[in-house]
Amino acid sequence: MMDRRVFLKDLGKLGVAMVVVSACGTDQTDVPGSTIVSNTGPTLGGGTTLGTTTTLPATTVGAVPSGQTTWERVRLGSVSAYVLARGGEATIIDTGGSGSAPAIGDSLGQIGLGWANVSHVVATHLHPDHIGSWADVMVAAAGAAGYAGRADLPAISSPRPLTGLGDGDMVFDLRVIATPGHTPGHISLLDESAGILVAGDSLNGTDGTGLTGANPQYTPDMATANESIAKMAGFDYSVVLVGHGDPVAANGSSLVGALVSG
Ligand SMILES: [Zn+2]
Repeated sequence: MMDRRVFLKDLGKLGVAMVVVSACGTDQTDVPGSTIVSNTGPTLGGGTTLGTTTTLPATTVGAVPSGQTTWERVRLGSVSAYVLARGGEATIIDTGGSGSAPAIGDSLGQIGLGWANVSHVVATHLHPDHIGSWADVMVAAAGAAGYAGRADLPAISSPRPLTGLGDGDMVFDLRVIATPGHTPGHISLLDESAGILVAGDSLNGTDGTGLTGANPQYTPDMATANESIAKMAGFDYSVVLVGHGDPVAANGSSLVGALVSG
């Protein structure tokens, strides 16, 4: 039985908070997506835990055992980017505003990787607080392929041609869910094995325990954005990583479903 572990690292100015999600297979008795472990600081999203909680040895911080999956939040002012690392290979999702590339590079370094390990860079959508450092990141990650939702692709200037993504495409074992409304080509990405949804700006975090829909101030098509929320509610995940606000650490599908029925 494979013990699949996911490390979520939340790197803030005040220190490092690390959360481990151990998502066991369905043939185990654990609650699916069962264990969230924090070794320093609060658990991601305000301390919600599922299953048992134990303390990680400090030596685990910064060391990623082979075969394990690490999700890292890169705080870039009011927006977050995310780094997914697996087997010495990394995918960057969103790049923050301009000047964010060094912070993303620092986050790679925190897990023992560098730009040369980055194989994929994905934009959730075309807004400047998400693609402001796109060119810098693509230059630094010289071997990486770049991706964005098809309808947003033409608005993103890139040093290399990008690949357009749509519903059902897979990138680095992430399932692409087209979630238009906030922008026409907005995409969300689902790590099905770990139960983690990267929602970009199709959802917003509140106080770490809740979610709201797309921000009406910046969303030209709220009806379509709300349809996208209903679509996301049909998938199964615990953790929701958002562009703005705090991620939620548990009950993600239920929280998104509540937005639909509410
Ligand atoms: Zn946006």
